[in-house]
Amino acid sequence: MSTYRDEAIVLRKLDYGEADRIFTLLTREHGKVGAIAKGVRRTSSKLASALELFSHIDVQLARGRGALDVITQVVRMPGHRLEADVERTAHAGLIAELADRVCEDRHPVEGVFELTNFALQELALESDPRRASMYFLVRALDLLGYAPQLDGCANCERQLPAAPAAFVPPLGGFLCPDCIQPGMTEVPAAGLKVLRLMAAGDIELYRRLKLEGGLVDILENVLEAQLEHHLDRQLKSIRFLRQMRSTPSART
Ligand SMILES: [Zn+2]
Repeated sequence: MSTYRDEAIVLRKLDYGEADRIFTLLTREHGKVGAIAKGVRRTSSKLASALELFSHIDVQLARGRGALDVITQVVRMPGHRLEADVERTAHAGLIAELADRVCEDRHPVEGVFELTNFALQELALESDPRRASMYFLVRALDLLGYAPQLDGCANCERQLPAAPAAFVPPLGGFLCPDCIQPGMTEVPAAGLKVLRLMAAGDIELYRRLKLEGGLVDILENVLEAQLEHHLDRQLKSIRFLRQMRSTPSART
């Protein structure tokens, strides 16, 4: 059997048979790969500890006869580990689900591995997981070519003034005060500023930014609506995050 080695992120896992587990790995060079770790659920397994969900690994794989490759060696890469709280895990689930959704098996999509790895590291570092998750969504929309238009009005094309604007997912952008229709949800000018800053990719500046909770709610809705408009199915992780937000006690 021929073998190969790559860096990967563990996107999904599924118990299989008596003691095996099947993993979906996002590799740097080989795209998304399905792989089986044999005997990994036995306490004696040397593979188990490195193969936690969302971990960044250095992995050796043997090409299998079917769709699945076989994990023969794995070590965890150095880096920050995600705390296992419910909210952080739910956001990591969104990052992994989106990577899984936009990649086909064994076809690397440029930039997806790097963004996924970066976003999970940022999520481990950031005190508020929602902030890291928003930054990821902006970068992911940009990478996929779905970035919302932030400069001109999506209807009249005039420069958006420093005033509240309404986001319209099918238009991929915002409406200026002259074009807003009654009943539309408005995003304050400060929200547009934060979106522009994230779109510019200045993570250092973004980390230092103070974001008030109400604004985070609004921006999260904009980014999720934009993403869902472009995906044919809803993301399970977004549905879960929304449920969690609506029942605050579940966030502890
Ligand atoms: Zn307008």
